[in-house]
Amino acid sequence: MGAGDPVDGCDLCEAARYTHWYHEDDICWIADCEVCSVPMVVWKPHGIEPPGPEIEHMMTELSRVADERFGPGEWSLDRTMRQIPDHFHAHCRDPQWLQLRWERPMSLYTGVGTARTERGQTPTTD
Ligand SMILES: [Zn+2]
Ligand SMILES: [Zn+2]
Repeated sequence: MGAGDPVDGCDLCEAARYTHWYHEDDICWIADCEVCSVPMVVWKPHGIEPPGPEIEHMMTELSRVADERFGPGEWSLDRTMRQIPDHFHAHCRDPQWLQLRWERPMSLYTGVGTARTERGQTPTTD
């Protein structure tokens, strides 16, 4: 196995399409974290040291998504990797994320970059 190859049992390598996906490209994907219900960018290769330009790319995409979800200036970047320390990812968090984390309905995967739909909501069909 080479560096960055998928690792069995790593949730981020598995990249299950379960919650809402905001974005995907060759370098990363952005979806709602299943634990926190806030957007999270994940580097595609398994590892903790993306090259500088790829980190920059991921932060640009995450900022765009976070501005859309929470509004500019209404969120902060969290690059601490608590649950999965060996695969690069970063969250953007609004100030209420901790208190709302159990109340927020989980979002639903409806395709990459579609309108965000929460579980229990009727998906919009237009
Ligand atoms: Zn991984
Ligand atoms: Zn999380």
